[in-house]
Amino acid sequence: MNLILMGLPGAGKGTQAERIVDQFGFPHISTGDMFRQAIKDGTELGKKAKSFMDRGGLVPDEVTIGIVRERLGKDDCKEGFLLDGFPRTVLQAEALDAILAENNGEIDAVLYIDVNPENLLNRLTGRRVCANCGATYHLVYNPPKKEGVCDKCGGPLIQRADDRKETVHERLQVNIKQQQPLVSFYEKKHVLKKINGEQPIDEVFQDISSILGAMAK
Ligand SMILES: [Zn+2]
Repeated sequence: MNLILMGLPGAGKGTQAERIVDQFGFPHISTGDMFRQAIKDGTELGKKAKSFMDRGGLVPDEVTIGIVRERLGKDDCKEGFLLDGFPRTVLQAEALDAILAENNGEIDAVLYIDVNPENLLNRLTGRRVCANCGATYHLVYNPPKKEGVCDKCGGPLIQRADDRKETVHERLQVNIKQQQPLVSFYEKKHVLKKINGEQPIDEVFQDISSILGAMAK
């Protein structure tokens, strides 16, 4: 199954992505990881991306799309994937459709974790990230077993600068504006699956599991 995971910042994408990967085995393809890997591998596109990032600029679409094409062409994506953080624009979504069409593929579902933006402010400021492995936690909804310490690797948990209150509001507004055209795009294709993200984490995952389970039949 070719899947996209969407939702506003703080909607719980990271946590749900981990569970989907654990349960269904799809590779989790986040844009950040993809860029880091391409740069580490020293591919042509990785070098290009790095030159833009080093100058503090945005990586142009053609480079980003090229990196996505390379990543989706790897063996572990043959049975499907879970894309996270891409596409961000309708243009990128159309490019993704074109990439998949090269192998007669398509996007099977867009899992949209739907949470009222007003509720996200509290969520975001409670988020903590492992400085070592990147695992995400939440002081209220998904606390680590030991305060300030990553369950997985024992690394220190930190609050990212952009999870501070001052910056969260603006980030939400930007994301809402950015996601609306994409949501409409996938709604029209009848692949958008809205999941009530206001529920406890386990129930959100149960809803995702039922959707994916029904699709696999
Ligand atoms: Zn960790």
